[in-house]
Amino acid sequence: MTDSPGPAPRSRTLRAIGAVLGSAVGDALGAPFEFGPEGVFSARFPAPGDGAGMCGGGGWEPGEATDDTQMAVLVGESLLEHGGLELPDVFARFRRWAAAGPKDIGLATEAVLTGGDPWDLAAALHFQTNGRAAGNGALMRASTSAVYFAPHGREATMDAARRIAALTHGDRAAWEGTAIFHELIREALTGGDPLEAVATTLGAVHPGHRARYAQVLAPDWHPDLATEFNGAVWPCLGSAVWALRTTTSYEDAVRAAVDLGGDTDTVAAVTGGLAGAVHGPDAIPDRWTQPLHVPLPGFGDRVLNGPELMRLARRLASPGGEAD
Ligand SMILES: [Mg+2]
Repeated sequence: MTDSPGPAPRSRTLRAIGAVLGSAVGDALGAPFEFGPEGVFSARFPAPGDGAGMCGGGGWEPGEATDDTQMAVLVGESLLEHGGLELPDVFARFRRWAAAGPKDIGLATEAVLTGGDPWDLAAALHFQTNGRAAGNGALMRASTSAVYFAPHGREATMDAARRIAALTHGDRAAWEGTAIFHELIREALTGGDPLEAVATTLGAVHPGHRARYAQVLAPDWHPDLATEFNGAVWPCLGSAVWALRTTTSYEDAVRAAVDLGGDTDTVAAVTGGLAGAVHGPDAIPDRWTQPLHVPLPGFGDRVLNGPELMRLARRLASPGGEAD
């Protein structure tokens, strides 16, 4: 806790932009450090506010967003073009993207999207065969859908999260983690404190999965207590909520996330979504948003820049164009 919180963002639309942009920036910031040890980010950029930049590395350009944000954009554009959730279309976009050979793609996601099975069976068939599909690969891409479904209320946004997660992940644990993220973002967009909403949110989680999420979302939980690699959905979400809880700014939250090591781009993307929604887009440093860009393999030469991503977030927050 190195600095005082800035002024709270004024409107729901600003918080929505913060969620989408914050997730993308976390993704790009964490990408060069993926699968590294703890503390690498702080070792390279010792103090907050020291000009820590988008450094690139590990095959990533400075500011280049990975599969987390690329898939989030695909979901967001499908929602807007169809005026709602059209699952076969989301799956078709995912498949087109996966076929184009993105630099980064989760193992389960790749198997499901390239296996040739129909959209409503592919993930379940993969889960039946492999028995493991509780990765963070659905949670990581949920910022856009969380913003879009927030006005529809708790039940609807959690249900939409589960359905989109189920396109690639057959394990209900992945659905429930994504549903929790959707609901915490909804709370933040209303101006509430997502940390205070954890208990209520857990009450809406499938009973068979509630205890495990209660554990990683508890105030005294620490990422060191994780029993799996943070590429799994539970410690990934737990670490993001821990990073939000133990910091007072967007920058400190995503620094803490990247410093955990492991699946740094995704832990920082989830953290950045929450922290961006709470602290707003103005809390995200310009030196991080300016180099941000989101390539979309399979969709021509399209590369979204920061302002284009913000426009997408604004439309998702107000699909009818109404201001708030
Ligand atoms: Mg990634």
